[in-house]
Amino acid sequence: MVSTLPDLRWPVVPDGGVAPEHAASSIATRIACMGSTSKAELVRASGMPRSSVSAQVDWLLHHGVLARAQQRPHVGRGRPAETVELRGDAAHVYAVEMGATATTAAIVDLRGRVLARSRIYLPTSGPPSLALERLGAMLHGLRDEVASSSARSSEPRRVAAIAFPARIDSRTHAPLRPTVLPSWDGHDVVGELEAVLGCPVLLENDCAVRAIAEAGLLGPDSLPLLSVQVGTGVGAGIVDGAGEIYRGANGSAGDVGHIPCSAGGETLCACGSRGCVEAVAAVPAMLARLRALGIVDDESELEGSDLLAHLLRQQDPRATQVVRESAEMVGEVVSALCNALNPRRVVITSGLSSVTHDLLAGVRSVVYARTRALATKDLVVDYSSMAPDLGIAGAYLLGRRLLLQPEQLKRFRAPAVR
Ligand SMILES: [Zn+2]
Repeated sequence: MVSTLPDLRWPVVPDGGVAPEHAASSIATRIACMGSTSKAELVRASGMPRSSVSAQVDWLLHHGVLARAQQRPHVGRGRPAETVELRGDAAHVYAVEMGATATTAAIVDLRGRVLARSRIYLPTSGPPSLALERLGAMLHGLRDEVASSSARSSEPRRVAAIAFPARIDSRTHAPLRPTVLPSWDGHDVVGELEAVLGCPVLLENDCAVRAIAEAGLLGPDSLPLLSVQVGTGVGAGIVDGAGEIYRGANGSAGDVGHIPCSAGGETLCACGSRGCVEAVAAVPAMLARLRALGIVDDESELEGSDLLAHLLRQQDPRATQVVRESAEMVGEVVSALCNALNPRRVVITSGLSSVTHDLLAGVRSVVYARTRALATKDLVVDYSSMAPDLGIAGAYLLGRRLLLQPEQLKRFRAPAVR
């Protein structure tokens, strides 16, 4: 008997269309990942016909997105292959990593060169609009600094990508009940910054931004990737097998600091629940335990991870013991996440990573002991390899991705050089 399948509405056709900027977007994104590339290499990597690759490369050259690179020395007979690369001055990314206290901002060109950077203390505990006004002024200052040393007479395309210390609502793109910066809940950060900067603004959770940077550094063999931050709080960013940030239905995916752990007991967390891993294993909790043991100097100018790192450098065994206890609690949560998500790589990011191996060793031992064998078969658990610049690198990657989307790409214009 002949039957009919139910109506299958899954979008099996990938996004994209016949407009030239769609195919050009795909080619430009490949060049962003591959660096200086010949047309023949693009044909091999994309599977597109040579005529189509050639047309897209010409379109991107004409619109000032690409530049002809130096010809590579050729081995053997024939002419050297002409290569193309992204044109650095075609577009700039305002890459920003906001923290509850310090904020770092940089202007990064399309090829990843940091043209200017600065670090300031924004008044984040006051009205968000005031802090955003200061951030806008800081970015305008950096923009003017870069413009004064540029040979280009036309303005580059610009986007801003902000790593923010809260989950971001998937629907409104506003901060979602931040425990660190409660006054920012639901604030229209994107709208206000777009008005100040006059360019598209992306707001993304800081842990997710760091996870994207790790994935960008380690490549597709590291995917899916789980990046776990142990600092003022405990948070995570998840990059799926396709290299996209996993945000969940509302944007709260990765909010792992509020998963209870068995040693959490009745400890009250800032979120109102009891026994959350953040309340007992983050840096403030470790310092509180050390303070109770009488080995924290309250007169010290250091605070947070810097203070804890200082105590660890002095090799006080009690400080090491406290880190090991926290590592076990974090490991318990990471193990549960590995069972649920089966990542290929777990990256631990912490201000303690340069002074102690105990945090990593503790997490690793619990993860390997408590996670199902199939989930640990190919699993690598390691410290982040580029911790200080992760936020800026991730924001740049997200900004570059946005610039090379078809909607943005069609706004590029051939540059005029003075
Ligand atoms: Zn909590």
